Amino acid sequence: MLRPFIAGNWKMNLTLKESRELAGSVRDGTEGITGVDVGVCPPSVFLEDVYSVLEGSSVILGAQNMHWEDKGAFTGEVSGDMIKEVGCTHVILGHSERRHVFGETDSMINSKLRTAFTKGIMPIFCLGERLEERESGSTFEVIERQLRAGLAGLRPEDVSRLTIAYEPVWAIGTGKNATSTQAQEVHGRIRALLKESYGEDVSASVRILYGGSVKPDNAVELLAQPDINGLLVGGASLKSDSFLEIISAAFEQVRSAV
Ligand code: PEP
Repeated sequence: MLRPFIAGNWKMNLTLKESRELAGSVRDGTEGITGVDVGVCPPSVFLEDVYSVLEGSSVILGAQNMHWEDKGAFTGEVSGDMIKEVGCTHVILGHSERRHVFGETDSMINSKLRTAFTKGIMPIFCLGERLEERESGSTFEVIERQLRAGLAGLRPEDVSRLTIAYEPVWAIGTGKNATSTQAQEVHGRIRALLKESYGEDVSASVRILYGGSVKPDNAVELLAQPDINGLLVGGASLKSDSFLEIISAAFEQVRSAV
């Protein structure tokens, strides 16, 4: 069993004070949790402060995005070196809001993934189909295109350290999660594509998280699926109670597997 990873995407939410408090609650609430990786991804302007709250704990700090270039005339962007300097070890790349609200293409996301690995930052690479794509029966096709384009040119040893997040766009922030069967079907497909391109060992080492309206009451069932290795949580990660409940669900699963 791969070590589950529960990551919270705070998106453009919270004040600085609320960010510090939430980070403190996650830090304190996860003391004693073993066998599960827990991470939070605050807005970039709060990263340094959140890092100071998390320092010394096992909670992972991730950014929500980064640019592929090191520096230059890219107003409003942050580089990999910048997010590293304020304590990030991880970064979310290719989130559907970046793709569909800000127009990021597969090729931009591929550049970001390559840069992240060059800099030793662990990416959480998001992909997922839109509602019309699911309804027209092209989910697998979309996933395959996003996966192949996103990973183009990456070394197998980088791919083996990757975290992928399958996030159906129609399930993000809508309260309508994919059923565990729908999610497992796509996760299984992603695993099979990885196996086809990189072999058994690499495919077996990639954690594939599910994201899209995850809540404490659906986390257990999603985590029970063989190819779901964790969860990327948006709304429910903004309240420590619900986020810690989801983390406990993963912890219980690890304990019961021993
Ligand atoms: C997300 O932000 O990646 C996400 C899945 O959001 P939510 O859990 O709110 O649907």
